[in-house]
Amino acid sequence: MKDIASSPIHVVGGGLAGSEAAWQIAQAGIPVILHEMRGVRGTDAHKTDGLAELVCSNSFRSDDATSNAVGVIHAEMRLAGSLIMACADRYQVPAGGALAVDRDGFSQAVTSAIDGHPLITVLREEIQGLPPNDWDLAIVATGPLTSPSLAAAIQAETGEDSLAFFDAIAPIVYRDSIDMDICWYQSRYDKVGPGGTGKDYINCPMDEAQYNAFIDALVAGDTVGFKEWEGTPYFDGCLPIEVMAERGRETLRHGPMKPMGLTNAHNPTVKPYAVVQLRQDNALGTLYNMVGFQTKLKYGTQAEIFRMIPGLEKAEFARLGGLHRNTYINSPMLLDGTLTLKSRPGLRFAGQITGCEGYVESAAIGLLAGRFAAAERKGIVLAPPPATTALGSLLGHITGGHLVSDDEPGKRSFQPMNINFGLFPELEPGAITKPEGIKRFRGKDKAIMKKQLMAARALRDCAGWLEAARSVGQPASSAALLSADAM
Ligand SMILES: Cc1cc2nc3c(=O)[nH]c(=O)nc-3n(C[C@H](O)[C@H](O)[C@H](O)COP(=O)(O)OP(=O)(O)OC[C@H]3O[C@@H](n4cnc5c(N)ncnc54)[C@H](O)[C@@H]3O)c2cc1C
Repeated sequence: MKDIASSPIHVVGGGLAGSEAAWQIAQAGIPVILHEMRGVRGTDAHKTDGLAELVCSNSFRSDDATSNAVGVIHAEMRLAGSLIMACADRYQVPAGGALAVDRDGFSQAVTSAIDGHPLITVLREEIQGLPPNDWDLAIVATGPLTSPSLAAAIQAETGEDSLAFFDAIAPIVYRDSIDMDICWYQSRYDKVGPGGTGKDYINCPMDEAQYNAFIDALVAGDTVGFKEWEGTPYFDGCLPIEVMAERGRETLRHGPMKPMGLTNAHNPTVKPYAVVQLRQDNALGTLYNMVGFQTKLKYGTQAEIFRMIPGLEKAEFARLGGLHRNTYINSPMLLDGTLTLKSRPGLRFAGQITGCEGYVESAAIGLLAGRFAAAERKGIVLAPPPATTALGSLLGHITGGHLVSDDEPGKRSFQPMNINFGLFPELEPGAITKPEGIKRFRGKDKAIMKKQLMAARALRDCAGWLEAARSVGQPASSAALLSADAM
């Protein structure tokens, strides 16, 4: 009889999702072979050979588990013994209410934890086609920049066109090239957050004339021509700054350049008309990224226009912004509720290629794919996380919750999605009640209470799901699973 317990599960792609999936499988006691092509073949966005490299921002976004859906998914992943969250927590840098990380320290920690795990073997190779038949259980987690030959093989298997949209990355500036006689440190509304100080961002103020000149330059700026992708849609959460400027003169002032909650320390009585914020990008504090400034402007144009920003006149850039392709499959049509390709039992997809969006979400789907695959290897049925949890609601969206709209039928209708409370089921009727002693219970207060109740329900239900999973042989909670030595 086949010794199923010792047959490895293959994971293709050692990014956020693949690393997490491999970790979850190995923690369930099953051997894993992780195939990662960097080392022999790069991508347009990755710069290193490290596992779980963050290709753009260094932020895992809000860490508020009481009333923010991203913070809730962080908390659920921590409960499930997530490697990605353990390494992020360990390499956190100050960022107000957000969880931002030292990108190199983070990636190195993931790499050494994976390399050091006795049940994980890492092979540096490109997998050019779909997993061969003798890999009875496999997870494809090759991300938005899946290598072309594998993308073509996926397309041939699914019969569906892979989707593509533009994704743009923001520039990174050397801290010592920023003029602090003009700029000042402050988090918006002085928010301290779990890991910050209230002074985590560098702010560059603009008056009205400077703002208008900046918008004119952005709109007139030379962009990189991407004929190949004409007609592919932008993802609204990651619009290039010049596209936002084209949508209206005021768009940026109400978006990434909004001046609210900020007071110019050098000139407190004059309210800036607009503010550019930069967020710490590495533990040393030598690099800062321009928040929300993803762009497809040509390199020379970027440097010229961004040096118009007060305080950045002499800015030196560690990395300029860029534009990349994003590939994802039509998951609601193609995958079942455990992320398995309906046409090929045993083959799962995970990460951004499934149509979730973001580092955290990609890792979360990797976590689920790893747990489902491990359960299948052990011959046990693992129920999906309840829809009331952040993990369950994201999984539900990808594997079926999405409705095809009449306006945009077909594959274009399924758009990448960040975790948000809109994906969670409504609360029970009557759950939101006026707290005792409060005279007026306004709409805003109700909205806050709704989020708090949804967050608490999610964490409670996630803990219950993990407990049930443990009873069928899956490890549940614990940062303790990650030995400090492995990092
Ligand atoms: C340019 C760009 C910028 C982004 N910026 C952000 C951001 O700022 N914040 C955010 O939250 N999200 C961002 N994203 C979205 C997304 O969160 C990241 O792409 C995230 O890394 C996705 O995780 P993943 O594990 O699915 O893919 P990845 O992390 O990309 O991992 C996939 C891995 O598979 C490997 N691989 C690919 N093909 C093969 C093959 N055939 N054989 C073997 N290995 C292969 C790759 O080398 C890579 O290591 C960005 C995406 C892109 C493309």
